Amino acid sequence: MLVLRHHRGSPPASTPLVQKIRQRIFVVTRVSREAQHDGLVFFHAREVSSFCPMDTTPAFPTLRIVSHPLVQHKLSLLRARATPTKIFKELVDEIATLIAYEATSELQLESAPVETPLERTKGMRVSGKKLTLVPILRAGLGMVEGVARLVPSARVGHIGLYRDHDTLEPVDYYFKVPGDASERDFFLLDPMLATGGSAAAAVSSLKRAGATRIRFLCLVAAPEGVRRLADAHPDVIVYCASLDRELNAQGYILPGLGDAGDRLFGTR
Ligand code: URA
Repeated sequence: MLVLRHHRGSPPASTPLVQKIRQRIFVVTRVSREAQHDGLVFFHAREVSSFCPMDTTPAFPTLRIVSHPLVQHKLSLLRARATPTKIFKELVDEIATLIAYEATSELQLESAPVETPLERTKGMRVSGKKLTLVPILRAGLGMVEGVARLVPSARVGHIGLYRDHDTLEPVDYYFKVPGDASERDFFLLDPMLATGGSAAAAVSSLKRAGATRIRFLCLVAAPEGVRRLADAHPDVIVYCASLDRELNAQGYILPGLGDAGDRLFGTR
């Protein structure tokens, strides 16, 4: 990947920065903000580019971080130990909607003329792609309604995984998605991308069923999980609200928000 950066201050609006990501070249007229975090440089180019309004970092080419102020505000409330189950559930739902807004920003449009009460005019619609939401049981369930609010016609599949005691590999105990998987865009949902083991296994299951276009939506990601998923499935873009610091020895994300399933369903 090639990144041409400016140094110090804002460059003139016409200064081109060229960022080449894999086969795609984006020309950005102005990068509005650069942030350093844990040694990574994040690029944010909301206002004036054809980039998605998300942060990217060269170290994690498959990762998109939704840095919208409302998402970051709600994420901090979600992290707080004192946040009760009812509010936690509402926050997961709201953040899922906001992340879905960004994750759908690259869907293709086609023209669809429309009759207003006054005249016929140009219109647009999302072109033919059938969307499918697939929560990974059980915490992924908390994100379904929030995403479906934006794409109410989306079908909903389900994947349940457990870890085999001998092999320590994830095995799906439940898998149900629509039959025409090869024609669909899949949004795989799980609030926490921790080790990446379940995420990679869930993507493999979807691909075995014929899926070719898969995005992974989560709230918090660990570097280990993003790397493992990218190694196994470099075609899957991950959308999240935060890239956290690390995993602890028990596989929890730090600083994280605890056990998302327990906090969603009040089972701790
Ligand atoms: N799953 C969770 O719910 N929380 C973590 O921190 C990691 C995995």
